[in-house]
Amino acid sequence: TADSKTSLRIAIQKSGRLTDKTIELLKGIGLRFDDYKRNLMVKCRNFDVELLLIRDDDIPEYVQDGVCDLGFVGANVRAETGADVRVLRGLDYGVCRLSLAARKDGAIQTLEDFEGKTIATSYPNLTQQFLDKHNIGANLVTISGAVEIAPRLEVADAICDLVSTGNTLKANGLQELEVILESETQLIQTNKELSPGKKKLIEKFLIRMDSHQQAERSRYIMMNAPKSSVPEIKEIIPSLNSPTVMPLADEEMVAVHTVIPIDQFWVVMERLKKEGATGIVILPIESMIL
Ligand code: ATP
Ligand code: MG
Repeated sequence: TADSKTSLRIAIQKSGRLTDKTIELLKGIGLRFDDYKRNLMVKCRNFDVELLLIRDDDIPEYVQDGVCDLGFVGANVRAETGADVRVLRGLDYGVCRLSLAARKDGAIQTLEDFEGKTIATSYPNLTQQFLDKHNIGANLVTISGAVEIAPRLEVADAICDLVSTGNTLKANGLQELEVILESETQLIQTNKELSPGKKKLIEKFLIRMDSHQQAERSRYIMMNAPKSSVPEIKEIIPSLNSPTVMPLADEEMVAVHTVIPIDQFWVVMERLKKEGATGIVILPIESMIL
């Protein structure tokens, strides 16, 4: 069967904000590629994967049509295209929001003020859906880039555009008025029927992704502590399993090793010091299989 040659085809953005982070993630789960900058299609050297490098706008449809099995794309682009795909994972990069914005001291200050106005956007579908939901009639002007200058050029009264820090809006004298979509990068899968071989590959791929993400969110922590504080330390540590406690040359002291989630790092740290922990060492983790 063709299954012996099965390889997953994954669509990623060719060149843009998501490219480096996506490649970094793929390398982080152990995939090795030759020069991906110069080619449209890149084979992975040690996993049955090939990457298709395309514009992010095209990714949802390529995945929908089964040209690619998986894709990494912003939720904003996926939602705008309305492609029929399955969202497998939300990823914590490419985080941004799609927002309505208007001139800082202009006539538009609230959502109702958008009635009858002209809005420039690269996201006509999402913008229209939002306006319809709120019973607002506005005219949309679809433009593909540099949307933020439309009000100054008097092409539009307002815009609906992606925002991350808000600096671009500020620099153009605009204020954000209404968030219409919170977005992040997503791993999407085609809804077309896949061969058993491909299904297995996707399973393997997801296990690697999940271990990698779990590891990224965790730290390995080592410390020395008075033997008498071990019960308190065990209480403090939000460990996956019981910490490793080892004797030291000083019989009053022990070494404690464990894994903690990064978001609890500082809280845990302060409490450990109060219990007399010293020589606390924190290490990144390469991978974690739960
Ligand atoms: P392409 O040439 O592939 O069409 P593009 O210009 O449409 O590229 P980029 O600007 O590279 O796209 O942005 C890709 C994605 O990065 C966006 O669709 C969005 O999901 C995410 N993103 C995160 N923060 C921002 C931001 N501040 N502005 C724009 N996009 C952002
Ligand atoms: Mg694009």
